[in-house]
Amino acid sequence: MDLKDLYRDVILDHNKRPRNFGRLDPCDTAADGNNPLCGDQLTVTLRLEGDRVEDIRFEGRGCAISTASASLMTEAVKGMDEAAIQALYARVHDALTAAADAPPPEGLGKLAALAGVREFPARVKCASLSWHTLNAALAHRAQNAAGQGPGAGLDPTPIAAVSTE
Ligand code: ZN
Repeated sequence: MDLKDLYRDVILDHNKRPRNFGRLDPCDTAADGNNPLCGDQLTVTLRLEGDRVEDIRFEGRGCAISTASASLMTEAVKGMDEAAIQALYARVHDALTAAADAPPPEGLGKLAALAGVREFPARVKCASLSWHTLNAALAHRAQNAAGQGPGAGLDPTPIAAVSTE
């Protein structure tokens, strides 16, 4: 399947039927993401086991690319620890920002579909919003844990916020 077909099929599917849509309550950490260029807004909530993502949900409203990207992200990172998430995000980011005529990324599974946005550079922020929001939530948890000792990370408020601008 070429990148255009993969992009169309996977983005449509995940926009129509977002996976892991909703909010975890209680959660260990959370963040709001905002992409003012497009109007995409989402909230990511996480349950963590150590630094491993035990469960993750997202909710919000945005364009098809931001919704599908968040859906794909939640599927991909469930069960991963923070180091694995950072490594995966680095590869996704490379795929999003590669030249339009670069070969499709390998080894990313369905996430490779996101590479279709490389033909629409204005949409890269739509596709990366959920990842930035996830990073903000993980950083927020780390700050809580560092500042307030064991167990403090269980309080997700005030919620972390991230904007792509
Ligand atoms: Zn968007």
